[in-house]
Amino acid sequence: MKISTILADIHAGNRLQPEDAVHLMNARGRDAHLVYAAADAIREEKVGDIVTFVRNNNIHITNICKNLCGFCGFGRRANDEDAYIFTVDQIKEQLAAAEKRHVTEICLLSGVNPEFDLNDYLELLHTCREVLPGVHIHGFSPDEINWAATQSNVSPHDVFIAMQKAGLSSLQGTGAEILVDEVRSVICPSKVSSSKWEEIIRIAHEEGFRSSATIMYGSVESVRDRITHLEVIRRIQDDTGGFTEMVLLPFIHEHTPLHKKGLISFGPTASEDLLMTAVSRLFLDNFDHIQVSLPKLGPKMAQAALCAGADDLSGTMYQDAVTEDAGGVAWCMEPDEMEYIVNDLGRTLKERTTFYEIIG
Ligand code: SF4
Repeated sequence: MKISTILADIHAGNRLQPEDAVHLMNARGRDAHLVYAAADAIREEKVGDIVTFVRNNNIHITNICKNLCGFCGFGRRANDEDAYIFTVDQIKEQLAAAEKRHVTEICLLSGVNPEFDLNDYLELLHTCREVLPGVHIHGFSPDEINWAATQSNVSPHDVFIAMQKAGLSSLQGTGAEILVDEVRSVICPSKVSSSKWEEIIRIAHEEGFRSSATIMYGSVESVRDRITHLEVIRRIQDDTGGFTEMVLLPFIHEHTPLHKKGLISFGPTASEDLLMTAVSRLFLDNFDHIQVSLPKLGPKMAQAALCAGADDLSGTMYQDAVTEDAGGVAWCMEPDEMEYIVNDLGRTLKERTTFYEIIG
């Protein structure tokens, strides 16, 4: 089918079908620009010209990880020279620094330490709550929830109840990568399966937690795999409405096992980044917010993605060792720098909460 016919069908109010989405992802040249423009128009209809960000601070409690995923440069074995776990005092120092930056969200983004059990996660939450009682705590992937449950011999349901009491505010939809098991067997064989990821996200939403949804694209998966992933995310959102946004995470290849083993030479190109953004906007008709990863894309590509369907620039973050260790630059920008690129597009930057309430 012609690209213009598919786009006209969406414009008429019909839901984008998977095979048509594959076709859009394969658009090239001027056809690709038609896809970006259609996604940009839908973004405008849904959320207007506001571009949002959250004032948040990443904290990487440990880089020791049981998974050692092929696409990751951050995870370490416990006996690696540069493996670390923060002490309680170091965590408090990081939280105190975040408080000085007036953040509204702490983002706990770490390795899945094989020594951790549910109590370790609860103690971490208690420490965060002690130092920053009023701040939103956004933490833990379904894989971490599954690990805490397995280690402590309780159900994921019990983990969520305990974490809620200890102060967790929302869950990360990380660890989704590509929700196709053949792909996961290459890029993250030790992580939860696609069905386990979905099961835990659904339990989280049933327990009243909202979460982000993510995709880590541009490694060994096919375009069809990306669309299969979007289908899973759209189906969950239809059923639960629990996702706050779709976060697009381009694979960064340089220091990753996949690259070192010669399984992949490069990460996604600029047009792959833009088509992923645009097709996510067009396919995920039950999402308001499509988030680009500013630290991974950098300001210029992020600006282009804002013209291809995205409306959110993620957050201030202040550190992103996951991107840096994979070989990326980790562009953590202050709001005035974000404003510079947003104003240049004739749009307006607004600070938001984790749940997209506009601040100020
Ligand atoms: S992506 Fe996450 S789970 Fe996988 S190795 Fe890196 S830190 Fe560990």
